[in-house]
Amino acid sequence: MSELLSVLQRCGIAVGEIQGGALAVRSPVDGAELARLRETSPDEVNGSIAKSAAAFLKWRMVPAPVRGELVRLWGEELREARRDIGWIVSIEAGKIIEEGLGEVQEGVDICEFALGLSRQLHGKTIVSERPGHRIMEQYHPLGPVAIITAFNFPSAVFAWNAALALVCGDPVIFKPSEKAVLSGLATFRALERAIARFGDRAPDGLAQIVIGSAPLAEMLVESPSIPLVSATGSTRMGRIVGPKVASRFGKRILELGGNNAMVVTPAADLDMAVRAILFSAVGTAGQRCTSLRRLIVHRSVKAALLAKLLKAYADLRIGNPLVAGTLVGPLIDQRAFDALQHAIATAQQQGGKVLAGGQRMLAEEFPNAWYVRPAIVEMPAQTAIVREETFGPLLYVLAYDAFDEAIAIHNDVPQGLSSCIFSNDLREVETFLSAAGSDCGMANVNIGPSGAEIGGAFGGEKETGGDRESGSDAWKQYMRRTTNTINFSKELPLAQGINFS
Ligand code: NAD
Repeated sequence: MSELLSVLQRCGIAVGEIQGGALAVRSPVDGAELARLRETSPDEVNGSIAKSAAAFLKWRMVPAPVRGELVRLWGEELREARRDIGWIVSIEAGKIIEEGLGEVQEGVDICEFALGLSRQLHGKTIVSERPGHRIMEQYHPLGPVAIITAFNFPSAVFAWNAALALVCGDPVIFKPSEKAVLSGLATFRALERAIARFGDRAPDGLAQIVIGSAPLAEMLVESPSIPLVSATGSTRMGRIVGPKVASRFGKRILELGGNNAMVVTPAADLDMAVRAILFSAVGTAGQRCTSLRRLIVHRSVKAALLAKLLKAYADLRIGNPLVAGTLVGPLIDQRAFDALQHAIATAQQQGGKVLAGGQRMLAEEFPNAWYVRPAIVEMPAQTAIVREETFGPLLYVLAYDAFDEAIAIHNDVPQGLSSCIFSNDLREVETFLSAAGSDCGMANVNIGPSGAEIGGAFGGEKETGGDRESGSDAWKQYMRRTTNTINFSKELPLAQGINFS
């Protein structure tokens, strides 16, 4: 506990802040209570929204490259605090240390990306059909952005959104997952330190945090003063948030559940495939939105692949994520464990055969924590349970005979986040990437579906939400576009040759 207090203190979180509140934060490592935080009151949320709207009027007038300086400072602060925040992510979300550090590194990376972007928020110049006319596009700041995040990326997803929003001229209000508040708060405090260094060029209320559960997030979702809601979490949450934002004509970025697959063809390098399967199916204990959940393997290589995979699964080091060398940490809570058990039992009822895992581990050492041996279940077909996202280390194996069949199975789920193929056959690979191939937002070749870089646009189709964040041109969602037609002639010709005299 004393280690926690000193790490939190170094991150700018005072002892008084984590005591006496109603919101309990538990560590999935051993089930111990880490903190009791005071929830933000509804009045305070309303106050934050008003402050954010006022901050916008000033922040939008700060030139974008100057705004870029703020995210540069935030990147410095995150780099400085990387070990501490990474450790908090580990203890609070159960990620192994390497992944905790990697998560904070994503924050550093997106700040650097956003800094470069701050000089590149440009629109197009378009030729006009009318003489003496020019058309151009501009991207202007949009307004306050609400950022609602999930427990499994409690630091990086805030950084992905906030770095872009701030550079685009938008204030942010952050509602971290109630299951991993400390990681969010530590990341937020790094931003506050950057704002303090940036000085009075940053208006009051530029970045604010709301601590609590769904009802507070709903206030942000429903507020007409917040033109963009970026919400990451379950499809269940997205089904509620999406229509609410749409009903007030707000914009949204929904980053929801995935049911990611790998197609392994006879032309695959099986040893490479096994390494990729291992990282993506059991890394973060299967609690990434991009975790590998379905293995669609050609019948001719199934036995060979499974033999290698089962051997690799048997050697997995499962345990305390804070101990170096551990590869698989705990599930977030008992609900996650129960959901996993339910999925395995249902899969068996639907004809599945458990090839490995599923059992609770380390119950004596950690009676209040939920460690599990990652499971592999062979299915006779893609039954109803396989089409659901189960948020844990459960890998379904399905066999195929013809390549078209593999793609059909691949796409026949409601989610569309990430996907991959292992093959060295050009035709198979290109077909998988083509319009007739994977229907996901991300389709990879000879790497697993998880572990994306920040430079690409991140997100997925269908029940994953249909939106994109992070790299590429995802910044455009944080801005409003205007099309400007300028007449520098002495005539007033109408478009489409219309004569109005
Ligand atoms: P969750 O849906 O339970 O909660 C996510 C966030 O939404 C929390 O901050 C929560 O307070 C808030 N929330 C819940 N109900 C809400 C409502 N009615 N209105 C407004 N806000 C509400 O998700 P979780 O258990 O924290 O995270 C796991 C899920 O997140 C998985 O389904 C995973 O696939 C998904 N996820 C998706 C991505 C992505 O980028 N696509 C990334 C990470 C996690």
